Amino acid sequence: MFYKILAFFQFILIAVLVVLLAGHYISFGGSSLVVREPGMPGESTLNYTPPPPPTIPLSALGKIREMKEAFAPTISKITDNIYYASGYALGGVQIVITDEGLVIIDTTESMDAAREIWTEFRKITDKPVKYIIYTHGHVDHIVGAPVFMGPDTQVIATADCVDFMKKDFGWLAEFQRRSRKIQSGAMDTDYARPLPMESKVRLSHTLTIDDIVWPTITFDQEYFFELGGKKFEIYHTTGETPDHLMVWMPEDKALFCGDLYYLSFPNLHSPMLEPRPVRGWYESLERMAAMGAEYLIPGHSQALFGEEEIRETLLAHAEGIKSVFDQTIACINQGLTVDEAVDKVKLPEHLASRKHLQEAYGRVDWSVRGIYQGETGWYDGHGTGLSPLPPAYASRELVQLAGGADKILARAMELQKAGEHQLVAELCDAVIKANPNEKVARAMKADSLDYLGYQSGNLNMFGFYRSAAAMERKAAGVKPE
Ligand SMILES: [Zn+2]
Repeated sequence: MFYKILAFFQFILIAVLVVLLAGHYISFGGSSLVVREPGMPGESTLNYTPPPPPTIPLSALGKIREMKEAFAPTISKITDNIYYASGYALGGVQIVITDEGLVIIDTTESMDAAREIWTEFRKITDKPVKYIIYTHGHVDHIVGAPVFMGPDTQVIATADCVDFMKKDFGWLAEFQRRSRKIQSGAMDTDYARPLPMESKVRLSHTLTIDDIVWPTITFDQEYFFELGGKKFEIYHTTGETPDHLMVWMPEDKALFCGDLYYLSFPNLHSPMLEPRPVRGWYESLERMAAMGAEYLIPGHSQALFGEEEIRETLLAHAEGIKSVFDQTIACINQGLTVDEAVDKVKLPEHLASRKHLQEAYGRVDWSVRGIYQGETGWYDGHGTGLSPLPPAYASRELVQLAGGADKILARAMELQKAGEHQLVAELCDAVIKANPNEKVARAMKADSLDYLGYQSGNLNMFGFYRSAAAMERKAAGVKPE
């Protein structure tokens, strides 16, 4: 009997061991990576003293002033029959007057701005609008179109523009609305610091697909027409977007280039959007430089005049973009990580000092990240990232190891006083990831993000930081001091 009982317990023991070992070596669930979830650390009780409100440093102010000057509401007479409305909104509008009617190029992001511009244009001409041309499908170029539409107005764009708009206002519309809001600093504005200067962005954040005027004439590579004796040549020239075009008036030597050129290092990759055709962008600029334009009228910032000035400016832009692209590709081929590439790639000195290539709207580091991401996959080859745990796991281990949230945040507060705002944000992130209910870390992070935004001298960066700071404050339930 004793041996029977012993055999029974032996059987139970072996069965338990088999089950445990099978559980250890074989994952029945298919994706279970850990055996336990680390415990959540407690919320910080640190007595946080916020820093004084940030101000824009002189080094950043210069660049922003430049942008602001370029954004003052103005109707510029480019030639006897070409006018350019800029500074009413983020996007500008160009009008070409011919004997048989008007051609409007781009329409701003705002119906109200378009009405204000149309009132001014109507003081100059009462002719009907025969054509509207979208240089590309971004909101700041198409939203004001209904204001300019007449009974027989044709709307011209590339065929790719229609696809772009179907994505932007159709199947990805909710994300696009949110990302535009984040980029323009318009998230949770009750929790954001007041703007240090008036914003030119007049975007409705409730836009839908029904608000859009769709193109009636589309083309693949080029489209030519004549109106009132004026020749218009439209070419598909990728860059800011894959659907981008330029309008060339050969007899007037006027080139309308949308967002292929503006007064800043270009936004080669908008941080929240799809990769942009960077190679196409510098090729388009080289093509534009060869046109012999006497007038270059962009979708944003001021027009350029004179063949030599235009050619030289466009070639410098092309060289800058090509240099950043080529350097990034070399880093990828050398096996550098994206962060190493960001550290290494620089705009050549003779270009970095140019007024037209200051990083006021786009940034070189963002471009490197964008090109890298656009040309490679998401996995860096270093193992850990193949199937990572939820970010909370490592953060909880680290917060516990450091002795709790208070210890980390006390150090972060010292770093904040020393102006190390990016490091503050990263330390706060670890604490927030470990415990999403954390309030002190969110408030501290928000203040440092505001500092980063004010110091950046970059309009998009300012918007991104403002939105992120506001979202953290809202989550923490605190308003800015
Ligand atoms: Zn634009």
